[in-house]
Amino acid sequence: MKIIAATGNAGKVREIKAILGDLGIEVISQKEAGIDIDVEETGTTFLENAFLKARAVYEISGLPAIADDSGLCVDALNGAPGVYSARYAGENATDADRIAKLLSELENIENRSAHFTSAVAFVISDTEEYSAEGHVFGHILRETNGEGGFGYDPIFYSDDLKKSFGTATAEEKNTVSHRYRALMGLKDILKEKL
Ligand code: IMP
Repeated sequence: MKIIAATGNAGKVREIKAILGDLGIEVISQKEAGIDIDVEETGTTFLENAFLKARAVYEISGLPAIADDSGLCVDALNGAPGVYSARYAGENATDADRIAKLLSELENIENRSAHFTSAVAFVISDTEEYSAEGHVFGHILRETNGEGGFGYDPIFYSDDLKKSFGTATAEEKNTVSHRYRALMGLKDILKEKL
């Protein structure tokens, strides 16, 4: 089976290829399939947004498509930035701007518990779709620690790794990450179906 990874993010494509490759599924990127679309993330949940992206690419290509949507949820902020993680400090802001905003929102807050969530959606046909979610738990540090990863990684301390994602290697992060866990959940579903 040939499927399209419905994302413009090369890192996500690599992860999807690595995790689903041994199921005998050939994963090609949206770019390799010649599809150039930017789907507006109008959903209010990670899963809705993941399905918006996967369905859009499935409809254009006629091929099965897989997409992920992810973000950081902070307990003391009622789950914010959540689905708005990428846009938390405005459209043209940088990772540093988003981190600065979050640290300032949490300045006088003791409860710093947080988790990353990833929802993956897989659309095979008009009537057959699957999904899974993954989480990684920890807390928000008071200042950045390390420069590895991307996004909010330098201020996220992982309970699993006992260190910040900013100081973790890519290999360490990839064994506990929300996206890895969501993809492994989907893989378990696909193993039974394919
Ligand atoms: P999207 O899933 O590509 O829409 O990404 C959502 C946003 O959530 C990213 O731009 C990051 O700010 C944040 N995010 C998602 N996953 C991670 C992660 O593994 N580390 C740090 N930030 C992340």
